[in-house]
Amino acid sequence: MEWSIQARSHQCQACGRTFRNKERLHTLLRDERNAYLRVDVCESCWAEHYAEGANHQRGFVSCWKSLYSAPQPTPEPIRRETAETLLRKLLELNAPEHAPACFILAAMLERKRLLKMKSQTTEQDRRLLIYEHSKTGEVFTISDPNLQLDQLEGVQRGVARLLEHGLEPPPPTAPEPPRDEPVAPSESPASSPAEPPNHE
Ligand SMILES: [Zn+2]
Repeated sequence: MEWSIQARSHQCQACGRTFRNKERLHTLLRDERNAYLRVDVCESCWAEHYAEGANHQRGFVSCWKSLYSAPQPTPEPIRRETAETLLRKLLELNAPEHAPACFILAAMLERKRLLKMKSQTTEQDRRLLIYEHSKTGEVFTISDPNLQLDQLEGVQRGVARLLEHGLEPPPPTAPEPPRDEPVAPSESPASSPAEPPNHE
């Protein structure tokens, strides 16, 4: 899964018109070469091009309606790690070992109504949960790690620890050794014949 988080478009991806605040739009999720690609279109393009038979189109996964909300230009305040910021960071790392934590965090955010489950699909025996962020409209694709009951507690403890202390900073990378560049042999002018003095 290449795109774990996909932002909502600010324009209709069919006619190109910029969405107005609070405008109703349609989101279509398609399976394109093993990655889910979202397409956001306006009401009239939906009616014209997609409404009929959208779910019969090749690669169709899911579709839903939502209200576009124009981005608010509020500066992001500095704050401690929240379930949301942690989930974003873990998804960005895109490491399989974080899949259980991502699953738990998404469930927490769903309870807080920050994420809404829009669809569930199965891909190569893996259940994928499609969530939409209730404020930004981003689509989060979370894979179900199929946790057993006896694993659950350990994962929850790990998530609580991450929420408290944040992600460990990556190990310091060794400073790059100074490049031992060979000193370029000076193009010795000695080899070139001296210019004959130009005596007048
Ligand atoms: Zn449109």
